[in-house]
Amino acid sequence: MKPIHHLSAIELRDAFFRGELSAVQIAESFLARMKIHDPKIGAFLSTLGPRALMKAEILDKKRAHNQPLGKMAAIPVAIKDNMHIAGELTTCGSNFLKNYKAPFNATAVHLMEEEDALLIGKTNLDEFAMGSSNENSAFFPVNNPWDLKCVPGGSSGGSSAAVAARMALIATGSDTGGSIRQPASFCGVVGYKPTYGRVSRYGLVSFGSSLDQIGPFAATVADAALTMEVIGRHCEHDATSLDLPQEAYPLSPKLETDATFGVPWHFLENLSPEIRANFEHSIEVMKSLGAKIVEIDLDVLKYSIAVYYILATAEASTNLARFDGIRYGLRSQNAKTLEEIYEQSRKEGFGREVKKRIMLGTYVLSAGYQDAFYKKAQKVRTLIIDAFDNAFNKCDAVMMPVTTSGAFEHGAFQDPLQMYLQDIFTVPANLAGLPGISVPSGFDSRGMPLGVQFLGPQMCDVSLMQYAYAYEQASKHTRIPRHYE
Ligand code: GLN
Repeated sequence: MKPIHHLSAIELRDAFFRGELSAVQIAESFLARMKIHDPKIGAFLSTLGPRALMKAEILDKKRAHNQPLGKMAAIPVAIKDNMHIAGELTTCGSNFLKNYKAPFNATAVHLMEEEDALLIGKTNLDEFAMGSSNENSAFFPVNNPWDLKCVPGGSSGGSSAAVAARMALIATGSDTGGSIRQPASFCGVVGYKPTYGRVSRYGLVSFGSSLDQIGPFAATVADAALTMEVIGRHCEHDATSLDLPQEAYPLSPKLETDATFGVPWHFLENLSPEIRANFEHSIEVMKSLGAKIVEIDLDVLKYSIAVYYILATAEASTNLARFDGIRYGLRSQNAKTLEEIYEQSRKEGFGREVKKRIMLGTYVLSAGYQDAFYKKAQKVRTLIIDAFDNAFNKCDAVMMPVTTSGAFEHGAFQDPLQMYLQDIFTVPANLAGLPGISVPSGFDSRGMPLGVQFLGPQMCDVSLMQYAYAYEQASKHTRIPRHYE
């Protein structure tokens, strides 16, 4: 048999079902990998060793007694540290919450535990999920397992690095403007952002509530699909949760005969030669499967960065108002009056990027500027939604690169605006609430992974996953970085 960490999550679970591996053996093996590799990578903010081992023992007993086992039985799962596991820390990568223990389970966490997943750790992130490189974590940065000099992407960089180095086989992320798809692409793993509302946000610390979605990182599309089967479920605790039945994700390596993919060539005109060549290769793969490729007009997406950084900061500024030094987390010890508690706690608790975004968001919402910025951005958001609606009259899914380059080196962006501009291919899906998936599509000239992105109409999660699966099976770019094989 292959080494345990070379198995996909589904293969590992099936080996456990067949009695070839015990759950304790699986938990010990992944906890050991974390111990060996994570000091260099920095993917985890906390490990849940005793919890995982206790659950593993229960699973082994259940199996010994032929009791029913869940769909995610014995699969090692890492949780981004902005999602609650009751009784464990939820730091959000922030000093503000460094001692904050979650009072309840996030719905996604609860659903996976119910299906017998082994929760093995909480992953590092940009503070409050604000960033594209993980350099904004208040604790330590994450290094990319493909090259430790490079960033893993952000904000869910701990989750993508954990799966890339096979310290976990599934990890959760939250995607507000690309934080699942971009790090997945930078780390050579699959990242799935569901239709807005498909996965409950209950127990996810909010960043931009109209944009946030929880989704999985996995080594394979099938593993991501399995996770979606479990977490894609209506939840009464989230008012934006879609009231739809849970869906199965049947996957086939073949495409339906008339599957059509739209490419917004004009919008993509400034691609670097390397990204263009890689993307064109992905299009050839789809053609070889019988796909029809059509050109679509998504020129209005050029405004998406501006729109996103107005709306996301506006929403963040109201969401983060709850961190006042009284209700959650840190309270400054230097403060004497109520006013000082608010001021000092925020000053001490929040990092630079978070403060900047709160100020920007407050500014665009302030009386004199609301019409000029916030309301205008909402209008352009509607134009972006309309442009996608038109595009989906011509095609079943849109194909685009995920990023403008492979993973960059730590410290490469001194100008934050330049870093924001890198999100151009990921933020549109959040603005329009669309499902999107990043699938490994090869490597750049430095040997860093690249990804291709498929975007579908709202609620078409199942067919989108199917396209990505067909692409993955025909292209086979998924690898484990040499050092972690
Ligand atoms: N990089 C984007 C930002 O900094 C997206 C973050 C996210 O999706 N959480 O806001």
